[in-house]
Amino acid sequence: MIHLGIIGYPLAHSLSPRLHKAALQELKLEGDYGLFPIPPQHEGLQPFQELFRKLRNGELNGLNVTIPYKQSVIPFLDELTPVARAVGAVNTIYYHQHILVGDNTDVPGFSADLEKVLLSIENKKPGLLEPIPSNALVLGAGGAARAVVYALDRSGWQVTIAARRPEQAEELIKSMGLINAFNQKIGVVNLDTFSINGVSSEIQLIVNTTPLGMAPNVDASPWPDGSAFPKRALIYDLVYNPPETALIRSAKAAGLFTTNGLGMLVEQAALAFERWTGQPAPRQVMHKAVVVF
Ligand code: NAP
Repeated sequence: MIHLGIIGYPLAHSLSPRLHKAALQELKLEGDYGLFPIPPQHEGLQPFQELFRKLRNGELNGLNVTIPYKQSVIPFLDELTPVARAVGAVNTIYYHQHILVGDNTDVPGFSADLEKVLLSIENKKPGLLEPIPSNALVLGAGGAARAVVYALDRSGWQVTIAARRPEQAEELIKSMGLINAFNQKIGVVNLDTFSINGVSSEIQLIVNTTPLGMAPNVDASPWPDGSAFPKRALIYDLVYNPPETALIRSAKAAGLFTTNGLGMLVEQAALAFERWTGQPAPRQVMHKAVVVF
């Protein structure tokens, strides 16, 4: 039996059980995927210690971590993978050779899906977004932005972060020690019409890492009113519920390529599943398990 699960709060709407149960079933592996909600106001460390004890003694074989614990689990772990250390956040935990390891599959999950989407655009319209990688604009500077900015920087993109609190973006850059390939600092602008208009014409990729547009506030968009979209660009919205956000609708109307966060969600889960089971994850089956949402 393979026992997997997720810690975070709230967890009622998490799609992770669907993804992992579909994968276990497809590979005919006996197992389960449990929800371990820990309210932020919980008293003391006991719920964490109990779960990590189970990982160490084999009662649990793998854990995902989501909001608000991606950073606070770190002191409980023996070791971080280089990517988890660089980003300062853990979304996947496993016990390997007597070591409790914290990993981050959001980074390679985002990179792999972005590559797939860019390749499909290249196949449809060869050369349209060239040169790639070039300039990317990341909207928001929270937890998901850390993974996205790190992934883009590593792949050679020149990143600018647009945040309503630019000091949050500055802190992100400083804490991750990010200096880009040209020895320049990553750019930071305000998330407002004037600042976005100042940078948008140079941009080939826009990634929304804010929750704006997510159900139930489906009419909200992070793209400031009156801001011009670039002429040629891919808009990658990390939000996946609803599948077509207000940002995606307006970008499509401007003739741009778009994709939502479902591909990243599936890929980060597939990579976690592979860390835990050592078997190739059935990505298509996992995708099918959540695409109805
Ligand atoms: P987070 O840590 O709370 O960060 C959210 C960021 O958005 C912060 O910079 C926040 O700024 C900004 N923001 C929030 N409301 C805003 C507003 N009204 N105007 C401008 N900026 C605003 O959240 P997160 O963990 O990064 O998650 C963000 C989104 O990404 C969520 O929708 C989540 O579901 C999605 N996500 C998707 C995947 C995937 O696999 N597809 C993975 C991770 C996350 P303040 O700090 O000033 O509020």
